[in-house]
Amino acid sequence: MANLGNPTNTIEILKKYGFSFQKKFGQNFLIDNNILEKIVENAGVTKDDLVIEIGPGIGTLTQHLCEHAREVVAVEIDKKLIPILEDTLSEYDNVRVINEDILKVDVNKIAEERNGGKNVKVVANLPYYITTPIIMGLFESNLPLESITVMVQKEVAERMQEGPGTKDYGALSLAVQFYSKPKVVLNVPAGCFMPKPNVDSAVIKLEKYEQPPVEVKDSKKMFEIIRAAFNQRRKTLTNSIANSGELNYSKDDVGKALETMGLLSTVRGEALTLEQFAKLSDLLG
Ligand code: SAM
Repeated sequence: MANLGNPTNTIEILKKYGFSFQKKFGQNFLIDNNILEKIVENAGVTKDDLVIEIGPGIGTLTQHLCEHAREVVAVEIDKKLIPILEDTLSEYDNVRVINEDILKVDVNKIAEERNGGKNVKVVANLPYYITTPIIMGLFESNLPLESITVMVQKEVAERMQEGPGTKDYGALSLAVQFYSKPKVVLNVPAGCFMPKPNVDSAVIKLEKYEQPPVEVKDSKKMFEIIRAAFNQRRKTLTNSIANSGELNYSKDDVGKALETMGLLSTVRGEALTLEQFAKLSDLLG
């Protein structure tokens, strides 16, 4: 089967199967072999690895992953792509395709059954409409995970790396930085995809920490506080936490905790570091 990482072979396969792109599934296929190789290289995939790929499409990135990994499990929601994948991946015996929604798949079971519970690597050109739930789902699932190397919207990649005091700093930055060390490894122009998306893209590598960089008694509670803080990011932290339907703290509780931390009760959530959110969560109890 021809290598798909170029426009000619991609168009040929699409025509052969009469495939039309589904916008609702975020289908923008890569057509640049150079980018594909760089993704796999940055992901550090070796013949020891089980790789989980989200959204193989017509199998463009999957072909490269199969060449480098021990085994690839690719989860694709669109059933129209399944016969195409059988064709484009026919020469590989180290791949299995699951026709499912990644948000419903038991990824832990895959790691357990196919990798003896050892760390897996996730590599994907993500469907952008569900970037955050996919990444948060992977982190929160307790999946034995070494790293996530994914193509995302450039703006989202930048948000994941931001620190306090910037406009893009938010709940996603804090969650990603609690679980992993993020690094943008590649910027990818829209012309490398078919069809061409309206946004620029970037590949980000999230290396999962064995232990989070801050200690917190109840991380679930801390993330509820973080969510409340950024749901109303122009308000003071005291107000946004006290107004939150999810939490049960008075303005006074928050004010006192902030005072103990040496912070003013007028501070906004966007000024706090991850460490400070952890401290606040512990103080509020
Ligand atoms: N990997 C291919 C490539 O790089 O050319 C395709 C990437 S395309 C950006 C995203 C893929 O994710 C599409 O094939 C789409 O059908 C699939 N997808 C969308 N939502 C999904 C979901 N919830 N679960 C699994 N796959 C999904």
